[in-house]
Amino acid sequence: MHAWIQRLSALAWQRLGEYLHQTQLLGSIQSTLYWDQNTGMPSAGAAWRGEQISFLAKQLHARQSSSHFEALLGEARAEFEQTRLAGKFEQSELVERCRNLELLEQDLTRQQRLDPALVGALATAKAIGYERWQQAKATADFSCFAPALQDLVSLRQQQADQLAEPRSCWETLAQPFEPDLSLVRLQSLFAPLRQRLPELVAKVRDCSGARCGQLGWDLSEANQKGLCDRLLLEWGRDPSITCVSRSPHPFSITLGPQDFRLTTRVVPKQPLSCFLATAHEWGHSLYEQGLPSQSHQWFAWPLGQATSMAVHESQSLFWENRIARSRVFCEHWWLHFASAGAPLSCADQLWAAMNPLTPGLNRVEADELSYGLHILIRTDLEISLLEEGLPVEDLPEQWNQRYRDLLGVTPENDGEGCLQDVHWSEGLFGYFPSYLLGHLISAQLSEAMQQAIGPLQEHVARGDEHLLLAWLRDQVYPYGRMINAEQLVEQVTGKPLSSQAFIDYLEDKLERLREL
Ligand SMILES: [Zn+2]
Repeated sequence: MHAWIQRLSALAWQRLGEYLHQTQLLGSIQSTLYWDQNTGMPSAGAAWRGEQISFLAKQLHARQSSSHFEALLGEARAEFEQTRLAGKFEQSELVERCRNLELLEQDLTRQQRLDPALVGALATAKAIGYERWQQAKATADFSCFAPALQDLVSLRQQQADQLAEPRSCWETLAQPFEPDLSLVRLQSLFAPLRQRLPELVAKVRDCSGARCGQLGWDLSEANQKGLCDRLLLEWGRDPSITCVSRSPHPFSITLGPQDFRLTTRVVPKQPLSCFLATAHEWGHSLYEQGLPSQSHQWFAWPLGQATSMAVHESQSLFWENRIARSRVFCEHWWLHFASAGAPLSCADQLWAAMNPLTPGLNRVEADELSYGLHILIRTDLEISLLEEGLPVEDLPEQWNQRYRDLLGVTPENDGEGCLQDVHWSEGLFGYFPSYLLGHLISAQLSEAMQQAIGPLQEHVARGDEHLLLAWLRDQVYPYGRMINAEQLVEQVTGKPLSSQAFIDYLEDKLERLREL
């Protein structure tokens, strides 16, 4: 039979799969360019690279919203219903196919509801917003960014209108990051944190044991790299499917079913930054490595993808905070740091260095305790901007007041205040809460893991981190987008997500740190 006859007679499901496979090829080419742009590309290559990436972005958007794709999806749906009626599916196959179709139809509807003129206007506004933000940040002058931010706010409001989902504006924009999340649910999850975190921050401030983030020592780049290599070796890195590099901002990215990349960076005078960033990005990568995408079958399908940003973040925070910043881990590691040149004479010193507790102005540098407050402030402000008519020009004042009230610190200028994060400059609203939800999920999953396999500290003390990974691979990674973040947590831990496990964890850790 000729290839084209075979093609015509292929099942609609396979034809759809081929189309998705090609879309994924294109997407992963774009990701490969992004990886190279951030790790190896000479700076003068930026203009051409920008053109390459935006060219591919247009192709991708066209594929994802084309009438051809819509037709393939319609045929696959019709074939699915027929086969279902005929009772020819195994139960698991039925459920998986149904979920894949649902997610593809949902994504397509979202793409199609947007007016191409708005998509174009948003792309332009993002580019302008990013450029103005860089200028404004460099000169600490919010007024230079304000008009661009105003444009982004109103374009995002229009976007939510066009999507016409039975959700508020902020909720609609948050859906790509946290599917099914509502504001009511978010506020109920965050309410206990609003009350308890400021109390804990005050407690730390009042006690003399509070330590600042400046350590007063540093490690050579080569020795930091040596420690990171040793960490990933101990945590079971397979060099045949992973690659580690350097970039200005650490990230992890998947380029193919057998190709996982991560980056880290060396920050002068912060000798633990590179190590902790490696632990963090490795956690992201492990989740990607464990998604059902590895079977190839689902790599191009929604079920092979991460279910939410919060779940992703919970996995990086688990390895960074739960493990690398734990007392027992430092027991095992302080000698390695000492031989790399760190002036340490016991495990407690490394543990203290890993856990500075100083409320500051900067989210990225925040300690585990005050981190949540940075997120609460941003979440409230973006809801106010999008839904409560907060004028953009009032943002700096509102920002500063909240930092004073919640963290007891005041930015000297907007550069270290409301201009510090890149997200809003690209009109990215609805993303910040995922970071904090990630802490909650990580804490609750850790409790469940502990119940299942025994005290984590005992495993870490023995260097048996592979047992923790085995549990995650079995319990958390395999679902992909089959279930959403909250369903995942409930399924794995047997109870709905709440902030309790995270608060308990923080209180316990603070108590023990204060005993130092
Ligand atoms: Zn992360």
